[in-house]
Amino acid sequence: SKRSSLPAKGSHVLFGASALDAADDAASSGLSRLSLIVLGHVDHGKSTLAGRLLYARKKVDERTLRKHEQSCAAIGKASFQFAWVMDTAEGERERGVTMEVGTAQVDTERHKLTLLDAPGHQDFVPQVIAGLSCADAAVLVVSAKTLTDSNQGEFERGFIRDGQTTEHVLLGKGLGINQIVVAVNKMDQAMEGERGFSRARFEEICRTMTPYLAKKGFNVAKKVQFIPVSGLTGENVETVSPGCPLSSWYSGPTLLQAIDALTPTPKDREKSMRAIVTDAYAERSGVAARVRVVRGELRIGETVAIMPMGDVATVGRIVVPSTGAIGTSSDAKRLVVLPGDAAELYLPNVDVARVARGFVLTHSREDLRISVRRRFTAKIIVLDNIGTPIIKGSELVMHMTAMECPVVLYKLVKTFKGKEVLAERPRILTSGSTAEVKVVTKRGLCVETFKEARALGRFVLRRGTQTVAMGVIDTLLADDGKAE
Ligand code: GDP
Repeated sequence: SKRSSLPAKGSHVLFGASALDAADDAASSGLSRLSLIVLGHVDHGKSTLAGRLLYARKKVDERTLRKHEQSCAAIGKASFQFAWVMDTAEGERERGVTMEVGTAQVDTERHKLTLLDAPGHQDFVPQVIAGLSCADAAVLVVSAKTLTDSNQGEFERGFIRDGQTTEHVLLGKGLGINQIVVAVNKMDQAMEGERGFSRARFEEICRTMTPYLAKKGFNVAKKVQFIPVSGLTGENVETVSPGCPLSSWYSGPTLLQAIDALTPTPKDREKSMRAIVTDAYAERSGVAARVRVVRGELRIGETVAIMPMGDVATVGRIVVPSTGAIGTSSDAKRLVVLPGDAAELYLPNVDVARVARGFVLTHSREDLRISVRRRFTAKIIVLDNIGTPIIKGSELVMHMTAMECPVVLYKLVKTFKGKEVLAERPRILTSGSTAEVKVVTKRGLCVETFKEARALGRFVLRRGTQTVAMGVIDTLLADDGKAE
């Protein structure tokens, strides 16, 4: 077959000078791949902390950082230097490509880490969903900053009704993420009298978050870690300085150690390839497509089917923005895009009108045609405070990977809590309920069960601009509604 002519596993090489040192293959370096989404209320310090992680692992040198600091100071945001680093990964800036979710790659002791920066504004929820669709775990950033002009700190503000802390927690849970590192950030401004790094403040936040996360279904004892940290000063990202007040009461893991303790999702390199199209535009006589591989492996020169339309093309060029790797020539065949990687492909002789966001590339037409579905069963979590309940037969918009599609919940099978069934065939679903439902989509979509391919089996449901529920696909159904 065509794949047998390719080099054996472990001999992959990424091209481009920077790519060689920045991103030698995970298999040969012995690191496991982990996609981590950084969640949290706007301004709680997600970008700063992400930038600090990159800096700690020397992906960004001090000089570059100072340069960014100066240009940021010039526009009045002196402490945004790390955010700036995060938002403009080299390859993306050069190619002028903007991704829906900022990504950056960095190696920790155990993982080849992809950081996904979730925009923190409510309007960006669909983009958050796109990021979540490939995430293994989440870092939830909550600010411990105490405010002098109010009896509420930033944490409380993110945690009240409509705060994004709670919305992001539910999104993560509904989409099947079960491991969370809660980065209790801005500890330098968690004041106790004149001193920052207040132990009482840290413990107060843990005390509030713990029952909340438990109630939302997280295994707090085993899968949730609370880490006090300062993205701005860098305390407890990689080390704690001896003079820091934190060292007097904290001896737990650093943020990087907590991240290293996370378990990566098996990435199924051996399984047949799936790559989600996140963007596509016309280029010469073909299409330049941005994709994210979620399963299997993709190489230059391979034939791909663009589903659900079924057009076939030979991959003519691959650019991996996060590493700067470029493959165009014949010996670039060794360039391999692995699960979790985003890449830009050139697909010659393809009509741009026949490629769209949310389409899926596979190695063979037959492979995915069987998964172009209109019906499936799913487990969903209805969000808090949705107002009008969800009624059987309501039309909602499903957001999945990089696409959206109108859907109808044509059957409400049951509501449940843990293993206990609360109601069979309920007529409505109210805020906070968990339910099994049957869904029919307006058009045929490339979906999979969550078990088969996480990214293609998790979705969010919106009504207008409001996110009302999220869920995972349990089983695919035939067009007559029967299970197979
Ligand atoms: P995002 O919106 O969550 O990405 O937040 P940013 O990273 O853009 O940070 C928002 C603001 O909080 C900026 O002014 C940062 O300088 C500030 N900030 C972030 N982390 C810390 C921290 O650990 N300590 C302090 N004092 N300020 C921080």
